[in-house]
Amino acid sequence: MKVFKFGGASLESVERIRQVAQIVQSFPDEKLLIVISAMAKTTNELEKVAQNFFLRKREIAAQLLFNIEEQHVNVAEALLGTKDHPLFIQLQQFFTEAEWTLGEKPLRTYDYYYDQLVSLGELLSTSIVSAFFNSVGIHNTWLDVRDIFRTDDNFRDANIDWIYTQRQVTEKVVPLFNNTNIVITQGFIGSTDQNESVTLGREGSDYSAAVFANMLDAESQTIWKDVEGLKNADPKLFPNTVNIPEISYSEVIEMAYYGAQVIHPKTIKPLQNKQIPLLVKCFLDKNLPGTIIRETADVKLLPPIIVLKKNQVLLNITSKDYSFITEDKISDIYEIFHGLKVKINLMQNGAINFSCCIDNNPEKIELLIKTLHEQFKIVYNEGLELLTVRYYQTGLLEELSDGHTILLEQRSTATIQRLWKR
Ligand code: ASP
Ligand code: MG
Repeated sequence: MKVFKFGGASLESVERIRQVAQIVQSFPDEKLLIVISAMAKTTNELEKVAQNFFLRKREIAAQLLFNIEEQHVNVAEALLGTKDHPLFIQLQQFFTEAEWTLGEKPLRTYDYYYDQLVSLGELLSTSIVSAFFNSVGIHNTWLDVRDIFRTDDNFRDANIDWIYTQRQVTEKVVPLFNNTNIVITQGFIGSTDQNESVTLGREGSDYSAAVFANMLDAESQTIWKDVEGLKNADPKLFPNTVNIPEISYSEVIEMAYYGAQVIHPKTIKPLQNKQIPLLVKCFLDKNLPGTIIRETADVKLLPPIIVLKKNQVLLNITSKDYSFITEDKISDIYEIFHGLKVKINLMQNGAINFSCCIDNNPEKIELLIKTLHEQFKIVYNEGLELLTVRYYQTGLLEELSDGHTILLEQRSTATIQRLWKR
């Protein structure tokens, strides 16, 4: 059994969905569990529906939803060549449910409504792909993952109940493969014990696929992307990037942690725990070698890995009365950051001072300052960039830093980080 994941970019157009079908057809006798995310930018569009609904701008929300419906119906019709197909009834039902939500008074939290509406994207895309595959002879079974993935009610970032979910996988998913080689299901979503839809965090489909791979003891997971594989830097930001043929789980976790938008950071653990290799392949040309991520990858083969995080803020927190900022104070500060779910990307402390670099989120920063200002004086500096280089070489580092004012730097034998102003 193999687990495949296809993301939004692979479903961006009718042509691309046909390409996805060709990929799947090239694995004729394989048992495949295929996890699919929402088409192209649908999740972003659905976020706007949720925002407008919550602001009680119902008409705008309804119009945006209608646009999404039209796009999906058009794609489905182009793929199937007809509108006379049960798929269109299924799509209609999903939209009717979403319209019911829009008809409610928003009495619960924003995050709750967000999940009820945004989860629609994956239900639509998987239904369309499943119906299309069946119509071209790729026989498959569509599965509503909300019957399998049980989570808590931490809406927008729900946590999987591993024991319950494993039981569902064993009792409900495994037997499906007695009658079918291919199961198609949604990434990114799940459900609470009250049958409320949840989402697992943006870009969470990679993680959904990894949970399935773990629970099905899959031989591998493949993430099909529109790029060659993992690269040592984002080609949109840096020239001369190179493909990484193999890399270890721990290295990928580090890359994701430092901000590389390669693979959802939660994806690695379920795979590492069962030593399931993760392949990153290009659906535009499946003969390209791609990247293999596994425990035994050889670090010596790695080029310097470069990650640049933009839009960073440096917060300088100084005690007002000259009391030391040592362990107890640092733990208070961390508790505040933790409470507001603000991740610290880099930190350094002195006698009466604590500096840290965080993503620029104006609302969170305002809350942080409000909470901290009683005890501390706070100064902040925005518009910064945080560079991280693993396996750095001095020449490269100087080239990258050229002309920038470095505000903070930290280095270990393997990693250097520089926070700078351009
Ligand atoms: N559709 C979701 C998102 O755009 C999940 C995913 O793509 O993995 O965030
Ligand atoms: Mg995506």
